[in-house]
Order: sequence, then C-alpha cells, then structure tokens
Amino acid sequence: MRNIPASSLAMDVLLKMAIGATLVVLLVTSLGYWYVYGKAEQEAIDNLKKFVINRTQHEAIMFKLAEDNLHVFKNKYLTSYQVAHEFSDEDFDALFFRDAKGATRMKREYYDGTLTPTGLYSSGMSGFIGNNVKVLNADLKRRLILGYHLIAEMGPGCKTRFANFFLHATYPENAIIIYYPESPWGLNARADLIMTDGAVVKATLQQYNPKRRAVWTGLYYDLTANQWAITYELPVDYEGRHLITPSHDIQLNDLIDRMISEHLEGSYNFIVSADGNLVAHPQKLDEIKQQMGVLSLEKLGDPTLSSMYEQIKKSGEVVTDDVKIIDDHVNGTYLAVARMAGPEWLYVTVYPKNLISNEAHSTAKIIIVIGMTFFFFMMLIVLYVIRKNVAIPVQLLKIAAEKISEGDYGVVIDGKLKLPDSAPNEISLLVKAFRHMAIQIRDANKILEDKIEERTQALEAVNEKLTALSFLDGLTGIYNRRAFDQTFHVKFEEAREGRDNFALMICDIDFFKLYNDQYGHETGDQALKETADTLVRNSGTLGHVYRYGGEEFAIIMENDLLSSYEERALNLLKAVEKLNREHRMSPYGVLTVSAGLAVYNEAFQDIKDMFITADQNLYTSKKAGRNQLTL
Ligand code: GH3
Ligand code: MG
Ligand code: MG
Repeated sequence: MRNIPASSLAMDVLLKMAIGATLVVLLVTSLGYWYVYGKAEQEAIDNLKKFVINRTQHEAIMFKLAEDNLHVFKNKYLTSYQVAHEFSDEDFDALFFRDAKGATRMKREYYDGTLTPTGLYSSGMSGFIGNNVKVLNADLKRRLILGYHLIAEMGPGCKTRFANFFLHATYPENAIIIYYPESPWGLNARADLIMTDGAVVKATLQQYNPKRRAVWTGLYYDLTANQWAITYELPVDYEGRHLITPSHDIQLNDLIDRMISEHLEGSYNFIVSADGNLVAHPQKLDEIKQQMGVLSLEKLGDPTLSSMYEQIKKSGEVVTDDVKIIDDHVNGTYLAVARMAGPEWLYVTVYPKNLISNEAHSTAKIIIVIGMTFFFFMMLIVLYVIRKNVAIPVQLLKIAAEKISEGDYGVVIDGKLKLPDSAPNEISLLVKAFRHMAIQIRDANKILEDKIEERTQALEAVNEKLTALSFLDGLTGIYNRRAFDQTFHVKFEEAREGRDNFALMICDIDFFKLYNDQYGHETGDQALKETADTLVRNSGTLGHVYRYGGEEFAIIMENDLLSSYEERALNLLKAVEKLNREHRMSPYGVLTVSAGLAVYNEAFQDIKDMFITADQNLYTSKKAGRNQLTL
C-alpha cells in the first residue's frame, strides 16, 4: 500500500486548493493590512492630537501667568498713578544717585536688601537711566518711583517663575527699573547704554501698536543667565499717554528640554513662530543661538523645514486649544500643529507615516505567517484525506481492473486484494459493483469455457468419425481406395528402406457386367459385399483388403514366414469360388475372381511400377481364361 504514488488526482486537487488558498490568504492579508493601517492611522492621529494639546497647554501655563501678572501690575500701577501724591526730588534721590559718567542708577542697598521708609523690605532691585537723558522731569521721576514700589512689592512673588520683573519708561526716556535677584543689572549697565533702540521697544509705542496689545519678543539667548528666554511686555497708557512698559523675561531652557525629550516614539517636535522664525528645533539649537534667537526659516534654507512651514501656512489659521493635522505628502509625515497661547508660537510634532505602515506591515506579516501555516497544514490534511479516501482506493480499483482483465477474478471476489468497501460512500459502492461485475464475468466465462469444451469434444468425435468414414467404402464396409493409397505408400517406403517386405494383389470379379444383367444390380451389390467379406475373412492378420473401385479389390500382404504370397493369393481365389454363388453366364457356373500379384523388389522405382506390374498380371489372368492368378 505504501508505494502507491500520490496520484495525479490528489496532486490536481491539491494544486487547485493551493491556488485558491493562496488567493484567500492574500485577500485576508490585504484586508487585514488595510484594516490595521486604518486603525493605526486613526490611533496615531488621536495620540498625536492628545499629545500636542497636552504639551501646548502645559507649556502655555507660564505664558498665561506672565500675562496675568502684568495685567494685575498694570491695574495697580494705573490706580496708584491716578491717586498717589506728587513725590519730591528728595524722594527720588533717596532711591537714585548720579554716577561719575552722568548715568543715574538705583542705590546699591536696594539690591543688597534694605528696609525702606514705607516699611517695605527691598532687595534684588536696581535701576538705570542712561547718561543721554540730561534732564529728569517730575513725571518721569514719579513714574519710576511708583514703578519701583510696585515691582519691589510684586517681584519677589514671581521669583520662582520668572527670571525677573522690570519696566521701561516710555521712548525715548531710556530708563529701567528691574527686580532681578541674579544680577544688579542697573548698577552694571554701561553709562551710555541706549535701551530704546530696537524692534522690541518700537512694538510698544502707540504709533506701531495702536491697539496697545501685549508684545512678546522673539527668542533670545541670555548670555548672563545662560538661558533661552523671551520677554513679555505690556504697554501701559493713561489718558492716551504711554507711561511705562512692564515686562517679564521668561526662561525657556526647561521648555526646550521638554520639547526635545518628551516626544512620541519615532517622532520629534519643533517650535516655529507665526512669522516664520524657528524658535526651537532639536537639531538647530546652535544655529538659533548664533542668530540670537531670530533664525528665519527662509534664511536657514532647510528644504524639509521650509516645505513643512509652507504646508502649515497653507493650511490656514491654527486656533488655540485645537490641533491641526496636516498630511505632509512631501516628507511622508503627519504634522500636528497647535498654537501656544502667549507668544503665538506653533508647536509642531513631526510624526513619520512609516511608523503606522510599519505596524500594519508587521500585522500583515503575522497574518501571512498564520495564513500560510494554516494553509500548509490544511494541504497536508487534504493530501492525506484524498490519498486515503480517493487516490489509494482508485489505485486499488485500477489494480483490480487489471486483475480482472488478466482473468484473475479470484483475488477481487474472495477479497485477497483488499478493496475499501467499509466506508458508506461512492467508493465502496463502486467496489461492490466491481466485485459483482467480477463474479458475473467469471460465471459467464465459466459457462462459455464449459460450452467450448463440450463443443470441442463433440467436434473431435465427429472428426474421428469423418476420418474413419473417409477411409471406408460405403457399400462393402471395407477400406476404400484412399486408405489403400496411404497404406501402399507407407508399405512401399518401408520396403524400400529394407525394413519389411510385402506383396500387392489385385482382384477383379469375372463377368460381373453379365452378372448384373442376369440377376439385377441389387443382387450384384450383395455379391460385391459377400466377395469383400470372403476376401477379408481369408486374408489373415497380415493381409489388408481394399475396394479399389467397381468390382476390383486390392490386397496388401505383409511378409508371412508360414506361407508364400502366391499360396495366400490362391487361397483367396479359391475361397471366392467356394462361395458357390451361381453365375449362369460364367463358364465356371459360379462367381469367380481373377488376380495379379506383384512382390516388392528393388527394381521398382516407385509405387506406380509395382502397381502396373500387378495390374498387368491381372490382365494376363483375364486373358488366360479368368479364375486364376498370375505372378
Ligand atoms: P471381365 O471378366 O473381363 O472383368 O468382365 P466384366 O463384365 O466383369 O467386366 P466389365 O468391366 O465389362 O464390367 C464390370 C461390371 O461391373 C460393369 C458394372 O455394371 C459392374 N459393376 C461395377 N460396380 C458395381 C457395383 O457396385 N454394383 C453392381 N451391382 N455392379 C457393379
Ligand atoms: Mg473390372
Ligand atoms: Mg470384372
């Protein structure tokens, strides 16, 4: 059984199943891939949104605090400005002194720490008015004294959150009051320092900022504190006149560190200002530092960043507390963009799309592996089932068919060839039909063989009879001329080979025509029969009598040591005469025969020679008067 090959039937089914199953696995994999990709994409986008919102809201706390602080300051300052009494020059001089180079500075004790006449403990405070300001009017002095009091009061409260708290007098007054515990700024500033130049101060002026909005400076690197920082400034006006601009410096090292270190796996973040300056980027910090915090993307010329910024700009305004997801086809990423309240920066997370496709790929791989494994075992099972239930039974049926065609019905019928007939299926029905067929063929064959045997035997018997008949004479029942010819030939050959000697005698009834005429043909026939019988009876075991034709007989005499051929021939002649059958038309009065004898000798070339000799001798006997023998 083992060596039965997996038939082409099994292979055929298997091949078709393999093609079908491969298609199914591919289809399932594609569906799985598509589904996983869609899911992963949605999940990634949701995560991205959550992350960016979370980051921006968290980082905006500091900016909001600064805003709140300065608004509180503004209200307090304006209240004081309206109601406070005029200060005297002595009041001003108690706080300030003029140095050798003509700059006015706050006295050192206010930085080091002193109790003021108002009962306020002052420390970390300094002030500076550049030496370009020659005359200090009473209002400036009043604004600075008021500013000093308020900052000295509020400053220490913000110490843990902000680097400093300061105010500038309005342009072009070039004066500053600052709470900055880290540095006695007002004492250190060069006497001729001009603080009123530059875009930052300009942005606080009425003609450039008619709506009196708060101003966020760009990012800058504070070399004194070794810190990234920005400044928040809120212009304070009274009755249409710009009085002062209170400000906070906000240190950003922690924010930048968080921006770099806290990112979704595989992604990175950067911050760009709405006007296209790169604020922070994990790879571009040095360039930003070199440009003192004002690194325009245009100037940087980084194609990736430029194209990302272009797409962000194109996508329209980003609303605070919302996240815009931009499908960045150019760089194969998703850009999650959120606006940071305060400086109006855009916090951008760059999320590579291949993170999503990687996940989908690995899921698809798992599906393919599971699918193929399942498929492989399916194939094994199918192969086993087809072999066991179909291929092997079919193969066995083929062998059974061969056995039947060879005539070996027995192995099929008696179950020597084990055919699967137990399972209730078509195969066992086929096996049963096969067996039934084998039985029928066997039985039919048996009947046929028996019939053939019977017929053959009958035919043989008939043939035997026919053969015998063909050598006998119908009238007399003795051997005929054909038998004579055969025996004569055999005897002649034996004699010629020297094995035996023999003689040929030919007899002819005398005057038989006359006999017929006299007694009738029927009596003639009887006479013929009687003559034949007499010759047979008297020729002995070594003589064979044949009716040669008409009323002529031939006798082959084998060698007989007891009597001569002549003697035996004469005996025969006498035996006929002794029958005493009346023949009135014969001179002898009874039926007689004449004969010629020829004994074999080597002079005879062939049987013809010997026959002619006997016949001529017969002729001689007839001529000599009949009823005699010639030798
Ligand atoms: P001979 O003595 O010279 O032999 O004269 P014959 O009359 O015997 O010879 P012939 O040859 O003239 O005639 C032979 C006759 O034998 C003629 C024929 O009618 C007869 N004869 C031959 N065969 C049969 C036979 O089967 N039955 C009968 N009743 N007569 C036969
Ligand atoms: Mg004759
Ligand atoms: Mg005759």
